[in-house]
Order: sequence, then structure tokens, then C-alpha cells
Amino acid sequence: MIGDDNTYLTNFRSRLELPGIIDVHTHFMPEQVMAKVWAYFDSAGPLVGREWPIAYRDDEQVRLKTLRDFGVRAFTSLVYPHKPDMAAWLNEWSADFAERTPDCLHTATFYPEHYADSYVEAAIERGARVFKVHVQVGDFHPGDPLLNPVWGMIEDAGIPVLIHCGSGPAPGEYTGPEPIAGLLQRYPRLRLIIAHMGTPEYSEFLDLAEEYPGVHLDTTMVWTDFTEASAPFPTAEHGRLRALSERILFGSDFPNIPYSYGHSIFALERLELGDSWLRQVCYRNAVRLFDIT
Ligand SMILES: [Zn+2]
Repeated sequence: MIGDDNTYLTNFRSRLELPGIIDVHTHFMPEQVMAKVWAYFDSAGPLVGREWPIAYRDDEQVRLKTLRDFGVRAFTSLVYPHKPDMAAWLNEWSADFAERTPDCLHTATFYPEHYADSYVEAAIERGARVFKVHVQVGDFHPGDPLLNPVWGMIEDAGIPVLIHCGSGPAPGEYTGPEPIAGLLQRYPRLRLIIAHMGTPEYSEFLDLAEEYPGVHLDTTMVWTDFTEASAPFPTAEHGRLRALSERILFGSDFPNIPYSYGHSIFALERLELGDSWLRQVCYRNAVRLFDIT
């Protein structure tokens, strides 16, 4: 299957004359944290909600080679805390990871805690290029007052924040579009990347993208057979996918996906939004947003 994927993805890139694919939504994390994440998926716990066999459960070096063999030129190492006193340590790890992995965009994260501004400032100084927030796993309100200095700093720095804030695969107390709408009212210049196109609140998050020019969306898991079975994307919104083509970025959730990597790209191709849409989504938009050379 993976061999077939390599052929499929090579043909995809050469047909579109793309130098590579940029995947804004991949996970690399400390080994013991990844082991816990995998154990959680294996248990089909309440935040996952269904059976979820992980397709790329390999050692870190194998996973890196797999991604590069797929033609992925740049990617992220999205880490996220589920409790206090964890984010600063995760940030140290991902800064080191980015140093030894030049094709990985240096990623950082934060949690509502009194010293969040100090480690976020340190991460920005060290060159963080994307922040990750997971509202459901973190179980905090994105507008928590403890985060005011953090959002202000990140808005001023213009660094994108990839935020899992939709209510899929299972809702949390603070998931959904309302907390994000409130956040954007206060910080309208924020560059947000709404993970999973906001699954399942697709239309509401497209509304926010229309209203705020800094709002982007990532395609992670959307339009795959897996997601279409539980949270189908409304075909009535295809017009807005075209209109917002500059704001949509390819993401995969590698390695934690229950199907082959190529299927994530195939899911975009079969939308039939055209080659130039695919070029923007799979490469050009990320080059521009992250200033990738
Ligand atoms: Zn993810």
C-alpha cells in the first residue's frame, strides 16, 4: 500500500509540476508522549470516539523517511499539552527537533498558566514558526484571561497558530466556533489555521475565514472516506472552497491516521476543484504563509 502511495504521490506531483508537498499538520513528539497518544487511540477513548488503527506506527527516523519519500518538503511537529507545566518542556523538545530536522517547521505550544507569556516569548525568540493549540485535549477556553499576553504577542509577531477547535471527532466544553469568534473580535489580526476545516462546524468556520483575512483552514482528514462517513463536508460549500482557495492548506495528521497517506491527497483530487486549486492548497499557500524558500 505504501509503495502504491509513493507512485501515486510522485505522479500527482509531476502532473502538477510541484517541487513537493507541504503538510502543515503532522505530529512528532517526545517518544513517551507519542506512546501515550497511540495508547489512547488504541483504546478508542471518548475523545476519539471510534476505532482508529494508526497506519504509520514506526520509529521517528522511519516516519521521517516515509514522509520525505512521499515528497513532503516541509512539515510541522505539532505538540500540545493536556495539563499545566507541560508546554515549556514540549517547546524545548520541539525546538531541538526542528534544529536536527531542517525540513520541520519549528513548532511551539502553550497552556493557560501564569508564566505562559515567558515561555511563548522564549519560543518566538528561538524562532518558532507555528504554534499549536488543541482546545478539546487542553480543555481550556481559548479566550482564558491567562492567555491575553500570549495572543497579543503572537498577533504582533504574525506567527500562525494551528488550532484544533471544531467539535470533532468528539465535542469538548470549549470547542466550536463561538470561542474562536470571540477571540478574533479581540485579536482580529491573528493568523489562525483552523484544523480539520473546523470539522464538523465547516460552514461556521468558513464564515470566520470570510470575515477575517488571517483565518486559514487545514484539510486534515476532511473528505476522506473515514471522515465523510461520520461528518460529511457539505457539497453546497464547494463554491466557498474555491473563493477561499488562498486560505486552505493541506494537512494530513500523519502518522496518526487510520488510512494510507495517499488517500488524503486523493480526497482533495476527487473534489474536482481543479489543478490550480490543488497547487495552492498542497504547496503555494504554505510557502507564502510560512515564507518557505
Ligand atoms: Zn492532529
